[in-house]
Amino acid sequence: MRSWSIPAGRIFGVEVRIHFSFLLLLVFIGLTEHSNPLASNPMRGTALVAIVFGSVVLHELGHALVGRLSGVPPRAIVLFPIGGVTIFDEAQPSITPNWKRDVKIAAAGPLANFAVAGLAALILHFAMPELRLWSDPYVLSSNLPHSLLWTNLWLGGFNLLPAYPMDGGRVLRAIFSRRMDAVSATRRAVSIGRGFAMAFCLAGMWNSWTTNQVSWLLLIGAFLFFAAQMEDRSAVFQSVLETVHLEDIMLTDFATLSPADTLEDALEKAVHCLQDDFPVIRGADMVGVVSKQKILQTLRSEGNGYVQSVMNRLFDVAPRSETLASAFRKLSARNLSILPVVENQQLVGIVTLQNLMHSMALLAETRKLRKAALES
Ligand SMILES: [Zn+2]
Repeated sequence: MRSWSIPAGRIFGVEVRIHFSFLLLLVFIGLTEHSNPLASNPMRGTALVAIVFGSVVLHELGHALVGRLSGVPPRAIVLFPIGGVTIFDEAQPSITPNWKRDVKIAAAGPLANFAVAGLAALILHFAMPELRLWSDPYVLSSNLPHSLLWTNLWLGGFNLLPAYPMDGGRVLRAIFSRRMDAVSATRRAVSIGRGFAMAFCLAGMWNSWTTNQVSWLLLIGAFLFFAAQMEDRSAVFQSVLETVHLEDIMLTDFATLSPADTLEDALEKAVHCLQDDFPVIRGADMVGVVSKQKILQTLRSEGNGYVQSVMNRLFDVAPRSETLASAFRKLSARNLSILPVVENQQLVGIVTLQNLMHSMALLAETRKLRKAALES
């Protein structure tokens, strides 16, 4: 997601990013305008892009606001020319499933667009009565107010398509989720979304072929495809978080330190293993955790001392059956990078942030490969 989009500030505490396909839109408008002798004014072309952009932002604000009001604040919004994709916090899948709430959040975006379109139509009706609201060309830079109206009607209507991650598709997913788990519901909705993307691409190709012009349909198909891809990846990530347990990924071969070790000894040990974080053990008990970073820092600032004085005594432990999602939450709650795994009060393994990230990437990749193998 990040590699294809650039940050564009924050609204209501939500990170807003612009997907690179907005550039495609600029190119596309440039091409269309070029072929139309009535409208070859770059300023107006830019204004048209601004109208599309503003309408998409408005649409997303609708989602973000209703999301926040119903207790699901989004983490980031990625803006596409056909709408946005709202990203929720992957490390907090604890948000309780509630399909009615999800339907409300999904409907808020299109409703915002229809409200603006209604307002624009009303103003146009009184301010420019000579203008024919229902005439083609609907969206063209030579008639900006007309474009505002139709962009919003389009955005609102198009987003109601049952093609995930369009809002209609989100409604569909909410309905699926009444009878299956969230991840399966998302994947089913994503595959229907891909079907729509394909249909748009094919129709667009046919249209471009017959009219000898780049078709909007082709562009929409491509956007749908990007968006579905992104959602699918986060669904795979989510399923790894929810279904993999600590015992599947924990490190069982690891080094420990004693509280009576000196920092220099500890550093000596740390040099010989790849670990960045260590459990501190006294006898059979775990008494703390400490990181290589912390040992180094203290050695630099205060000279040699004992592990006892630098270790963190406030740490969480987890049973082997705990899910990765819950481990992530524990680590971030205490801002730690190591989670000891215990069984019958015995230390049986450790999970570190570094090791968690590595295995997540690996597991997601394996699942994708397995899925590809099943499909082919
Ligand atoms: Zn939307």
